[in-house]
Amino acid sequence: MIGNAVKELLLENQADYLIPAENVAHVMEENPLNHALLVLTKVGYSKIPVINKESQFVGLISLSAIVDAMFDLTEIDPDNLANLCVKDVMEREVKMLKPPYDIEKILHLSVDNPFIPAVNKENIFVGIITRRELLKAVNHLAHELELNYDVTKKEKVIEQEVS
Ligand code: AMP
Repeated sequence: MIGNAVKELLLENQADYLIPAENVAHVMEENPLNHALLVLTKVGYSKIPVINKESQFVGLISLSAIVDAMFDLTEIDPDNLANLCVKDVMEREVKMLKPPYDIEKILHLSVDNPFIPAVNKENIFVGIITRRELLKAVNHLAHELELNYDVTKKEKVIEQEVS
C-alpha cells in the first residue's frame, strides 16, 4: 500500500500524467494496414492505440505485428498488407485504466508497459499515461518528500538492522 504522503505528492501533478487523446497518435480499427504502417513510421513509435468509430479504445497496433503480416514463408512482401486492416492484426488483450484512476494500479501496470491507455466510463479513449510522465512525478516526489514532510527512520527498523 502506498502511504498518504507519497500518494499526495505523486498525485500533485496528476493532470499532467495523461497525454490527452487529441495529442496521441492513433489509428482506427478499420484503417488499412498500410495506413497504420505509414502512421507508425511517421510518428516514430513502435506501438500506438487503436480506436473504433465510437472513439472507444479497442487495442494496440505495433510495427512488429505489421511486419509479421508482411511475411510469406521465406520473404517480406508489402503486397501482403493490401487486404488486411488494423483490426485483423491488432493486440486486443490490453490492460487499460478505467475510472477511478488509481495511482497504485498505474505504477503496477507501468512496470510491464511503456504506456497505459485510459478510458472513461463509456470506454471512450481519453489518452495515455506514459512511463516518461510517471517518472517525472516520481522525480517530483523524490525532491519534495523531505522538504514537505518529517521523514524519520522508524525505531523498529533500526533495531532490526542492528541485530
Ligand atoms: P515515452 O514514455 O514518452 O517514451 O512513451 C512510451 C510509449 O508511449 C512510446 O513508445 C509510444 O508507444 C507511446 N506514446 C508516447 N507518446 C505518444 C503519443 N503522443 N502518441 C502515441 N503514442 C505515444
